[in-house]
Amino acid sequence: MLQTVVHYFLHFIFIGAIAYWYDKTNWKKLWLILLATMLVDLDHLLAIPIFHPGRCSIGFHYLHSEYVIPFYFLGAIFIKHKIFRFIMIGLAFHMITDFIDCVWMYSKCEECSAKKVFEGLG
Ligand SMILES: [Zn+2]
Repeated sequence: MLQTVVHYFLHFIFIGAIAYWYDKTNWKKLWLILLATMLVDLDHLLAIPIFHPGRCSIGFHYLHSEYVIPFYFLGAIFIKHKIFRFIMIGLAFHMITDFIDCVWMYSKCEECSAKKVFEGLG
């Protein structure tokens, strides 16, 4: 329950604080941009089943894979265009949020698929 609350708080509310920190006059517009980065979760529609409670998004879905995540972070740092950069910040933070969820899930569940993310790290 707490995990779900924290997850959706980070996905929907905390990003408002990021937008405000980034630009105190246009933060509402930026918040909408960050909310729009939730569209990255459309890659879940390609998965079977679409929703699985014990599955970690990171490393499973195409737009959450280890091949594209570095580009979100690099874009957040190096892209000069303000809006594109902010989209990348949103995507990078989305991955952080999903990753926190995976760590949390893994801490409670030895058998869930989140475990795969950590294979080879230890
Ligand atoms: Zn996601």
